[in-house]
Amino acid sequence: MLLSHVASRSLGPRLPDAVRASPPASWPLVEMLRHSSDMGKFRQVFSKAKHIAIITGAGVSAESGIPTFRGAGGLWRRWKAQDLATPEAFSRNPSRVWEFYHHRREVTLSKSPNAAHYAIAECEARLSKQGRSVVVITQNVDELHRRAGSKNVLEIHGNLFKTRCISCGSVKANHKSPICPSLLGKGAPDPETSEAQIPVNDLPRCEDSDCDGLLRPDVIWFGETLDSNVLTQVEKELDMCDLCLVVGTSSVVYPAAMFGPQVASRRVPVAEFNTNTTPKTTYFTHHIQGQCGTTLPLALARHESEVI
Ligand SMILES: [Zn+2]
Repeated sequence: MLLSHVASRSLGPRLPDAVRASPPASWPLVEMLRHSSDMGKFRQVFSKAKHIAIITGAGVSAESGIPTFRGAGGLWRRWKAQDLATPEAFSRNPSRVWEFYHHRREVTLSKSPNAAHYAIAECEARLSKQGRSVVVITQNVDELHRRAGSKNVLEIHGNLFKTRCISCGSVKANHKSPICPSLLGKGAPDPETSEAQIPVNDLPRCEDSDCDGLLRPDVIWFGETLDSNVLTQVEKELDMCDLCLVVGTSSVVYPAAMFGPQVASRRVPVAEFNTNTTPKTTYFTHHIQGQCGTTLPLALARHESEVI
């Protein structure tokens, strides 16, 4: 009852019936949701979809062994990501923040896309030949979707392998390992590590002519707003899609947490793939529980109705 009430208030009268219905208060939560956990039913919807938006979060990366530096035990040295991934932390101590990002880049380069990434990429390639589209809208900054072969990717939180000059604003792809000589062997995560204290002139610098400005990772930090051009594209995709998947995200980081519910408010089917239910599960028509690397290859495999 309470969930239905909250949902109605925030999303207005366009809610799908599954959410708007008010079951008896004594029903257990799982009964209230009225979503389908039946893979066969998802596959029927999937077989008819022309434009599929797939929203992905940290759970997909975690299955490749990418640490998030959030939550219990998620520390780098003695800091959480929230202490390092801010404009203030970077201006106070750019050497420390670059050590943190250097570590994340090096760890990410040592990992590989998993079965979930490949299932999404393969689905995009296959459906494009049928005049159907798949777009990935990801909160992940590790580029694993692209490495798996996905072409249509919107990275709403930026990319670990891009830099932005804080002087001229130039954004460039950068896959160097290490990103600069002074960071070689630096960035170890254990709390006993002494700080590298690299002089700012020896940190990554802009190579545009006559600039030489300090570079920062081109990721969205805590307290920063998302890129408006990317958000505009995301809105377009969310308005156009006729099936939405919400994969490996706990749906607590905004605004991404509202993307799925926003689509559901148009009565478009939304399927959540996660190891657990989330605060947003009640909005969705399908909830498929399990590791994404197990469920997505089944969910996105060629359907018998596909002729190409
Ligand atoms: Zn520059």
